[in-house]
Amino acid sequence: MAKMNQDTYAGGGVVDQIEADPVNSSTERSLYEARVKIFPAKVTGAFRRLKWWIMAVTLGIYWLTPWVRWDRGPNAPDQAVLVDLANRRFYFFSIEIWPQEFYYVAGLLIMAGIGLFLITSVVGRAWCGYTCPQTVWTDLYMAVERWIEGDRNARMRLEKAPWSFSKLRKRVSVHAIWLLIAVATGGAWIFYFADAPSLAIAFVTGQAPAVAYVTVGILTFTTYVFAGFMREQVCTYMCPWPRIQGAMLDEDSLIVTYNDWRGEPRSRHQKRAAQEGLDVGDCVDCNACVAVCPMGIDIRDGQQLECITCALCIDACNNVMDKVDKPRGLISYTTLSDYEAHAATAAKNGREAAKNEQRRVSISHIARPRTIIYTALWSFIGIAMLVTLTMRDRLDINVLLERNPLFVTLSDGSIRNTYTVKLLNMQPELKTFSVELEGLPEATMWFQGGEEQRGTSFEAAVQPDRVRELRVFVVKPEATGTENFRFVLTDEGSGAADTAEAQFHGPQQ
Ligand code: SF4
Ligand code: SF4
Repeated sequence: MAKMNQDTYAGGGVVDQIEADPVNSSTERSLYEARVKIFPAKVTGAFRRLKWWIMAVTLGIYWLTPWVRWDRGPNAPDQAVLVDLANRRFYFFSIEIWPQEFYYVAGLLIMAGIGLFLITSVVGRAWCGYTCPQTVWTDLYMAVERWIEGDRNARMRLEKAPWSFSKLRKRVSVHAIWLLIAVATGGAWIFYFADAPSLAIAFVTGQAPAVAYVTVGILTFTTYVFAGFMREQVCTYMCPWPRIQGAMLDEDSLIVTYNDWRGEPRSRHQKRAAQEGLDVGDCVDCNACVAVCPMGIDIRDGQQLECITCALCIDACNNVMDKVDKPRGLISYTTLSDYEAHAATAAKNGREAAKNEQRRVSISHIARPRTIIYTALWSFIGIAMLVTLTMRDRLDINVLLERNPLFVTLSDGSIRNTYTVKLLNMQPELKTFSVELEGLPEATMWFQGGEEQRGTSFEAAVQPDRVRELRVFVVKPEATGTENFRFVLTDEGSGAADTAEAQFHGPQQ
């Protein structure tokens, strides 16, 4: 286990030193070793602040969104974001997606995938380090732990201490708050699938459907276990992304890097080394970067699968560099090409010359062929979806021919085909649509219950935001073989129209 020491540095300040965890600093690790509990230390700095902000925004969005109202008129739900499974609709503010428009959801998923590729190729696993739910919830759980049990050393002491009233009180408090967060997490999820205020009342009074309780139970359990106990193991062993990201990174991707050309050989005794004329690097081997790492790794060992690029080790090391009066950036967001250029300069002209060299990260590192292609693809899909969303008609017609029998010969010799016609009114008001035959000369039609409208067209009213299914009969005085024709659906109020291709069958010649 780690322990704290203190040492005086060349800069004259006193900085805590943390002995490396023997397991984490070991170079050889068993594939089946037991988990070593990690006690990440508190850290302050720019990246920590950024993570707090992102946590507040993402959790705020998750918990508050179902409670945002959006007026869609009297015949539609007023919840801004709603997956209405019963009526098979997805509402997102003013956008309403019907099942046959699922390609919009597919488009969004494709955009999310391309966006993830883009971000990874520019700034490595930023998704993992800042916005992944596993990271956000684990960070929240760790904050609770730190609040009740204290920082790293206090938690390590508590872990080793025998059971006492104080230990029991702290542990019960931590787990009670964790459970509350887990229930709130599961509870918020179900509000995306029904009217949130009504479901909340039904849920607490025991009137909600069983599936709501089961869903909350499963999500409570997974949140509590994943964020409270499994933590870094979810990222390392369960998530496929660490394996995929290797293919996404290249020499121009920004990744959290220990600049060993500047830090090595590391020494805890910089002052003595200076007095003895020894050439040592800037790393004072304080282990602060290891102590704050939520994955329990040592970034000085190089790039590792476990690193989620949360950059907390950058904050920790920058704080140490400030204390020992050395420039920041011993651990930094660096591209491989930048790192190699500095390492080459350090090998050739010395460490100081490399330190004085400008960093080479520039816009050309970000705007390179692959990132331009990702951005272009992402933008193209996004613009195409926006255009089609704004131009789409809010009515639809689907036609299905009844095949048993394919046609009927009536007593006067005419031929009748029967179709199931679905008229979709995707608007929040009652609509009267006209349905017309096109491309089938001499044919007439009517729908079951609407015989009085027999002719080449009929009108049918469709309730707001509903589908009306009609059994439609089409009759031709004579017909042989197969003829193609169309049903044309028109909203006479707006002029919007939709068509459905169909076939009319008669006896073979
Ligand atoms: S090594 Fe640094 S960036 Fe990587 S997970 Fe640990 S603290 Fe985060
Ligand atoms: S890299 Fe920085 S934080 Fe890590 S041990 Fe060296 S000086 Fe300390």
